[in-house]
Amino acid sequence: MNIILLGPPGAGKGTQSAGLVARHGMKQLSTGDMLRAAVKAGTPVGLEAKAVMDRGELVSDDIVSALIDENLDAMAANEGAIFDGYPRTAAQASDLDRILAKHGRSLDHVIELEVNVDALVERITGRFSCANCGALYHDTANPPVKEGVCDVCGSTEFKRRPDDNEETVRTRMEEYRAKTAPILPGYETRGIVTRVDGMAPIDVVAGQIDAILT
Ligand code: ADP
Ligand code: ADP
Ligand code: ZN
Repeated sequence: MNIILLGPPGAGKGTQSAGLVARHGMKQLSTGDMLRAAVKAGTPVGLEAKAVMDRGELVSDDIVSALIDENLDAMAANEGAIFDGYPRTAAQASDLDRILAKHGRSLDHVIELEVNVDALVERITGRFSCANCGALYHDTANPPVKEGVCDVCGSTEFKRRPDDNEETVRTRMEEYRAKTAPILPGYETRGIVTRVDGMAPIDVVAGQIDAILT
C-alpha cells in the first residue's frame, strides 16, 4: 500500500501518519522530518535547506525527490509507505511516479485532509512535539494527558519548530495554494483521491482514513 496524505500546513498529516504507523505498521516518509534531520546533522542538504525552510518557502524538487528515493531504497518491498508532505509540486508528483515505478510500487490512494484555512494558524502556532520521541501535541486540541510529560515515552522535554510562527505560516499556506493544490486534479483524473474532513477530532479523522484503506 502506497498513500499520499495531502493538505496545507497544520492539516494533520504528521498526526495521522503517526497513527497509521502505530495501527498498520506502515512507514512514514516525511520530507519535512528528513530535511529537519539534515539541518540538525549539518549535512550539505541541511545547510542548503535551512534558510529556505525558515522563510517557509519550498526546498528544491531535486533535493526532496532524492530523499524520497533513498528512503524507499531502504524499505522492504511489502512495507507500506505514507508520503507525508511530498509531493508538493507538479515536478515532484512526476518524480514520485518515476521513483515508485523504479521500486515496483504504485499509488493506491491520495487522501486530502480538508481544513478550514482560518484554523491553520492556530493549529500551527499551538503545535509542539516531544524532544525525545517526536510525538506531536497541541496546546489546546491535543495536550499530553499529564501536563509536561510525554504520553508516549515519559520525557519532560518538548520543542517547537522555528518555522511555526504566524508570518512563516502565511508563506507556507500561499506556497500550498500556488504550487501544491494544483497537483490534485491530475490524481483526480486517475480516480485515486478521497477527501476527509480534517476539522473533525483526531480519532474521527483516523477512522475516516482507516475506512478508505480497507
Ligand atoms: P501537518 O503535518 O499537516 O502540518 P500536524 O499533524 O503537525 O499537521 O498537526 C498540526 C497541529 O494540529 C498539531 O499541533 C496537532 O496536534 C494538531 N492537530 C492535528 N490534527 C488535529 C485535529 N483533527 N483537530 C485538532 N488539532 C489537530
Ligand atoms: P508542515 O507540517 O507544516 O506541512 P513540513 O514539515 O512538511 O511542514 O515541511 C516544513 C518545511 O520543509 C516546508 O515549509 C518546506 O520548506 C520544506 N519541505 C518539506 N517537504 C517539502 C517538499 N516536498 N518540497 C519542498 N519543500 C519541502
Ligand atoms: Zn515522547
